[in-house]
Formats: sequence, C-alpha cells, structure tokens
Amino acid sequence: MSNSAVEPVRSINWPASLVFFITGAIALVVAPWYGFTHGYSLATVLCTLFLVAANGMSITAGYHRLWSHRAYESHWLVRLPLLVFGTMAIQNSVLVWSANHRVHHRFCDDNEVDPYSAGRGFWYSHIGWMLRNYPSATPDFNLVKDLERDPMLRFQHQYYLPLVLLTNLGIPVALGLYFGDFWGMLLLAGVTRLVISHHVTFFINSLAHMWGTQPYNDRNSAKDNPVLAFLTYGEGYHNFHHHFLHDYRNAIRWWQWDPTKWFIWALSKIGLTHSLRRTPDVTIQRAVVEMQLRRLGAGAAASADVDISESLARLAAPLRARVQQEVEAFRATLAEWSKVMDLRQQDLAHFRERSKEIVAALREQRRRLAELVAAVPATAAA
Ligand SMILES: [Zn+2]
Ligand SMILES: [Zn+2]
Repeated sequence: MSNSAVEPVRSINWPASLVFFITGAIALVVAPWYGFTHGYSLATVLCTLFLVAANGMSITAGYHRLWSHRAYESHWLVRLPLLVFGTMAIQNSVLVWSANHRVHHRFCDDNEVDPYSAGRGFWYSHIGWMLRNYPSATPDFNLVKDLERDPMLRFQHQYYLPLVLLTNLGIPVALGLYFGDFWGMLLLAGVTRLVISHHVTFFINSLAHMWGTQPYNDRNSAKDNPVLAFLTYGEGYHNFHHHFLHDYRNAIRWWQWDPTKWFIWALSKIGLTHSLRRTPDVTIQRAVVEMQLRRLGAGAAASADVDISESLARLAAPLRARVQQEVEAFRATLAEWSKVMDLRQQDLAHFRERSKEIVAALREQRRRLAELVAAVPATAAA
C-alpha cells in the first residue's frame, strides 16, 4: 500500500477464500492423483476444454465487452448462453463484476479506489483483493443503473448462489452421467476447469498491468502482451483496451490473437450482434504517435501553441532538430485532419478517402518515430 501509511487489517472474505482454497487444492492434488490412478476419458478432456473456453469467452465477450463496456449489442440468444457460462465461471454477478470493473477503468492504479489496483502488487491484483473484505471491492450499484434495467441480469444477481450451484454441479454431473465418467467429469470439467478459468481471468488484472508494452498510453499501468492475449481470448491487449475501452476489439490487427473479437464479429454477420463500436483508425494512430512524441519529451506536441523547445533541451542537437521536425509534421497532419472532418457532412466518400490518407501519414510518421524513440535513452517523459 503506497498511498497511506497504515492499512487496517480487513476481515477475511470466507466464501471467496474457501472457494479458491478448496477448488485450488482439488485441482492441484486430487485431480492429478485421479488422473494417474484412474485416468480420464477423452470425452471428459474434450468437455473440460470446451467448458474452459465457454467460461472464458463468456467473461470476455459477455461480462467484459458486452455488459461492462457496452461495446456492442446482442440478441438474447447470445446473451443467455453468455450469462449461463459466465455464471458458471464464479466471478460474481454481472452487476457486481461490472460495477467493480467500471471503477477499475475510471480510477486505474489508485490504491484506495481501484478494486484490483496493480499498484498493490501481483498477489493483491491477482487474487488477494477478493480474500479479505476491502472497502474498494464493495460494488457501487449506482454505476450499473443501465444494466439493472435488464431483467435477465437482475434475475442472475438475485438468484446468484443457486444459479452458481446449478451450473457448477448440474452441467458436470449431467455430462458425467451421459459419458459414463462421473468422478472424472466432476474433478476435471467441474473443479479443474473452474480453477483454470479463474486464474486466466485474474491474469488480466495482475500480469496485464505489469508485463508488456504501452503503445497507446503510459498514464496507467495497463500493458499490451501477445502471450497473455493468447491465454485470455484476446484480453492481453490491455493497453489498447484501457485507452479505447468502448471498442469491441482489444486487438486491432488481423494477425493479433483476439478470438473474443472474432466471435462478436462473426455473430454480427448473422444478425445476432449489432452496433459494434470501433475507434476510428485516425484516433488510434494519433494516440500511438502522441505516445511516441511523449517518450521523446514532446508530449505537448498536439497543442500547436505550446513551445516544447525547453523539454527537448535534453536531446543532442541533431536529434532535437529531427524531433522538432516531427512535431511540425504532426501538427500539420492534425490541421489537415480538422479540415477533412468538415467534409464528413457534405461528402462521405471523399471524407473516407481523405481519412485513409491521414491514417497513412500517421502510420508513416509512426515508423520514423520508432527509430527516434530507439535512439533516445528512456528518461522521464514530458
Ligand atoms: Zn485493467
Ligand atoms: Zn475493461
């Protein structure tokens, strides 16, 4: 805890602590022992993999992008399974999860307010915040008034515990009886599945705030990390996500791993999701260039009337001249962009064409700046 000297010891959150401890112990000890002594059937392994993915994607596509951020709209035929498999993931109701998550975005890294502030270290942001009754993790339902209007979400919140038991026991038991591997299914698809699903999600709060790059913004701890993206159905592009939180995508390039985005997009093609929110390319490229200029000490470059010569003084003269040139180029592109914006109402086709040119200019500048950033020793950005 960095903000205050003495943090009172909080009481233990027994329900959460017991769930994590008991399921963790079973997954680490009993499930492997059963595997060695009895073996698991192929059906059990496949059901487990399916449920791990269904739980994970329901948290990312449902709890996170659909409900917390309203990044798209969807048909109830999609919302219902997202809610069922999301409930099965045991991460609290959508209302509680979203209320906490909205605070996490608004007050990111504030140790007093952010429920899983990475400023309090790996353990706290990963799981510690749920093991005791911290005031910052108490949900403020005023933040989810929009979601409270949805009867499906109100129902889930009201009957959360029975629904958790029904999904976590009912689904593995039914599968176990059907495939004739009752105990195997309960241990692997029931308990081990839950533990994997838990920690994969928790990595987004812990590791994705500690390990990776910050192409869009370094004013909070969120990082882009392709390894974590692979484990978390695309959520590892967390620096992008914290900067453009209402975008239905977390990864923007076609080759970056974001199955949650592909899932939402594919459903939009058959009419089951709609109103997918995308950040305009110009806005994204502009953020990258601004971040690069900030690293070079020219963070105020976007404001044409700010003199940045003083903050560039630390650079050697030839480098300083090149950065100054880039600042001028950036300001010229922004001036051009504001003219292009005026076209929007009059001539949409022309507007789109000119927007592409602006994006290309920013991409080109981004490549030039990457060389400069590499040449300048990292010091405090301006
Ligand atoms: Zn975050
Ligand atoms: Zn988020």
